[in-house]
Amino acid sequence: MRQPALLAIDQGTSSSRAIVFSVDGVPLIVSQKELASRYGPGGWVEQDPEEIWRTTLETCREAVGVAQDRGLEIAAAGIANQRETTVVWERSSGRPVYNAIVWQDRRGAKRCSELRRQGLASKIAEATGLVPDSYFSATKLQWLLEHVEDADATAATGKLAFGTIDTFLLWRLTGGRMHATDATNASRTMLFNIATQQWDPDLLELFRVPRAILPEVRDSVSDYGTIHADLLGPEIPIRGIAGDQQAAAIGQACFEPGMAKCTYGTGAFLLINVGGSKPEPADGLLGTVGSRFAGETSYAIEGTIFNAGSTVQWLSETLRLVADPARSSGLAATVDDTGGVVLVPAFTGLGAPHWDPEARGGIFGLSRDTTPAHIVRAGLEAVAYQTHDLLEAAGGLGQYGRLRVDGAMAKNDWLMQFLADILGAPVERPAVTETTALGAAFLAGLGAGTYDGTDAVGRLWKENSRFTPSGADYASHLALWQESVRRVRKRAGIATVNV
Ligand code: ADP
Repeated sequence: MRQPALLAIDQGTSSSRAIVFSVDGVPLIVSQKELASRYGPGGWVEQDPEEIWRTTLETCREAVGVAQDRGLEIAAAGIANQRETTVVWERSSGRPVYNAIVWQDRRGAKRCSELRRQGLASKIAEATGLVPDSYFSATKLQWLLEHVEDADATAATGKLAFGTIDTFLLWRLTGGRMHATDATNASRTMLFNIATQQWDPDLLELFRVPRAILPEVRDSVSDYGTIHADLLGPEIPIRGIAGDQQAAAIGQACFEPGMAKCTYGTGAFLLINVGGSKPEPADGLLGTVGSRFAGETSYAIEGTIFNAGSTVQWLSETLRLVADPARSSGLAATVDDTGGVVLVPAFTGLGAPHWDPEARGGIFGLSRDTTPAHIVRAGLEAVAYQTHDLLEAAGGLGQYGRLRVDGAMAKNDWLMQFLADILGAPVERPAVTETTALGAAFLAGLGAGTYDGTDAVGRLWKENSRFTPSGADYASHLALWQESVRRVRKRAGIATVNV
């Protein structure tokens, strides 16, 4: 008998990947292809939807081909995707009418300021859990319908389809049979009411989006059809979808209220499971759908650190204070402290809870004996302090009382220990750090009946390392950090979502 396995399709901003996992959650085969973004004036960021499709298909073909050669039988596939990125295509031909407008794209910023001026921020936050921002799909979709010739009129007749990347890939993988998304992806569009779990009629009107263009919203585990046999050879059922950060939380088995994960990559994304009640908006944090299983929504609070790994990259590539990011751990450990140096990496403003887009970074406390080790250590410490501030705004770690970490930066042992010290709580690093893809595989397995529930998935989570707080008192460090943050801020006072 062929050994069962699960296929995770992990479509990210910088690459598309297909990973075949064993049913006990071990990555067996990885195929990856880089993906280009095009940058334009005014903060425009676009990708070619055909390239997104082609790289996804090629990586799936390669991974599934190797799996077949190794005698594996893929029970089901799951999709995890870059969120918010917006595509519109013709239903008849499947041809996109414009490039994919990527989540980072700022062209909707003016529209969002207008909405804030009109006093609509709290209404939007109440319905969607989001701060009005061009990051989310709504203003991208509105721009697209208004600027692509005839799109507005054609959309109203139902001839066009909108989708985030999951939906676009699903459409292509099923040969146009499925036009659907899952509730986690829908919750990032700024068009979806997270309380009612429906597209919000008022928001559709506000952003002038015709209902006919929207996908059906399903549970994160659902029958999403099958991958057409012409594409990969075997017909593979698609049984799960989630946006990348939610998928990572699922890969980290954060199924219980109070469980939290933080993914440390270029930026960092914290997600805290808050259970079945919609969270109240707070201090620039977002309320979002964490997962929806069998019609039961589990909500999450999300907070973003704009610059985490990017700080280390800047210290390494631009300032050349450390040979490469991986060496920052060793270098930080060569000094007892930062010698009073504090680095506030507000390169692109400050995210939650300060929410000050005009703030810019600073390095404070320099003296004649400051060395690269002090500054690099300060850059790493800043990541821990920012996590602390996010968690404080979110009301703490919750009853689980521990933080699960992943992403390339989570490999930094020195930083993970410092993080545990600053949070005063254990930090858990899993054996499999490909948590986004693992989450997609878990969803696929839940849908295929490989696992009989989330408890079974939770039992597969394995620890690689655990960092426990040393008990040292860091209150004075935190006070110095807060003082330095105040010095880089342009806006006074703590912003709330309805500013
Ligand atoms: P993304 O998914 O956002 O592209 P990754 O998870 O691959 O990012 O993380 C890449 C970032 O992590 C880079 O900015 C790099 O500087 C940083 N990084 C990688 N390894 C380490 C390390 N050991 N210590 C500190 N930073 C690291």
